Amino acid sequence: MKEIKKLRQSIDEIDDRILELLNQRLAVAVQIGRVKSDAGVAVVDSRRESQIFKRLASLNQGPMREDALHQIFRAVIGAGRGIQSQETKAGISPVYAVIGNPIAHSLSPVMHNTALAHCGLDGTYLPFRVENIAAAVDGIRGLGIRGASVTIPHKISIMQHLDEIDPIAAEIGAVNTVINRDGVLHGHNSDCTGAVKAIAEQTTVKGRETAVIGAGGAARAIAFGLKQEGAAVTIINRSKDRGKELAGELGCRFIGLDELQELPFQIIVNATPVGMTPDVDKMPLPTSLLNPDMTVMDTIYNPLKTRLLQEAENTGCTVIDGVSMFVHQGAVQFEMWTSQKAPIDIMRKVVMEELSGHA
Ligand code: NAP
Repeated sequence: MKEIKKLRQSIDEIDDRILELLNQRLAVAVQIGRVKSDAGVAVVDSRRESQIFKRLASLNQGPMREDALHQIFRAVIGAGRGIQSQETKAGISPVYAVIGNPIAHSLSPVMHNTALAHCGLDGTYLPFRVENIAAAVDGIRGLGIRGASVTIPHKISIMQHLDEIDPIAAEIGAVNTVINRDGVLHGHNSDCTGAVKAIAEQTTVKGRETAVIGAGGAARAIAFGLKQEGAAVTIINRSKDRGKELAGELGCRFIGLDELQELPFQIIVNATPVGMTPDVDKMPLPTSLLNPDMTVMDTIYNPLKTRLLQEAENTGCTVIDGVSMFVHQGAVQFEMWTSQKAPIDIMRKVVMEELSGHA
């Protein structure tokens, strides 16, 4: 017991030093923020942040793992940003938005507001029904809205109004996330990363044979994400021209939906609306083509268990519902906007409650 007391004393002493150093670091960050703000330069510099992570990772001799190092410094940098923005914006609460049309049934506000509150972050996330996308982007800029989710029908049309587009979003050809860095609007695609994260939670993606059914916006994002993660991708689509075009861009195989005779794939993703309420009895491919070794994901979350997922589950497949992708893409947005780790479990819980009407 005496030994534990001594060790705890050592921990306390180390904590005291860490606390002092963290406060010194924050004070310097505030000074940098003031200098940049006075010079009219963007306060947040994501390149500098990745340089910090890289430099520290190269110095780290353990036993701290690299992911832990990353997590700790992301929180430290996030705390610095918090103080910088309080200083530069005189304590104005950040506003986030989702823009689309229709928008009334979006689950993003409840998901993001719950996440902000859970993390003790100041901020509000609001839905806006938008017809004129150019005017809405001016609004984001003019009102200093800190970040926005973008949904149907604006994911493509918004791109021409933004200042910078992330290279992956540019390749996909769609933006579903806007980050406002001191007036400079950056476009990203979190559907892509979100879908891959949802799948990677259940199975390996790299090196697997995967098929994406559909060739619309969601299919494009998911197919690019899977390919980027090292999977072999095949596009399956009803309209052959559209499907071949996407497959051509990705440099992958294409099969017409009406030509399907077998499914030699380990991962199948439905990125069509087939099976969505009210057409809950429909599914995009016949049950006879499923086998128990497959992982089947549906992007639809209304209903939560689509007929495709029900039949896949009965066949013995691993199934992933559309809420997983939705929550993961939201978590990616949250982390980009706040530099804090997203509370994924809480986000999923509140979305499930909303969907089941028990909120
Ligand atoms: P989209 O751009 O309109 O594309 C729809 C795709 O589905 C097209 O490839 C279309 O084929 C195909 N399709 C439509 N009706 C069909 C039918 N009856 N039979 C066969 N194929 C059909 O839509 P999207 O934005 O990609 O959205 C697709 C789905 O993803 C929607 O259900 C949406 O709710 C879901 N989604 C989910 C999330 C999430 O976070 N969970 C995020 C984004 C989207 P053709 O090319 O032949 O027209």
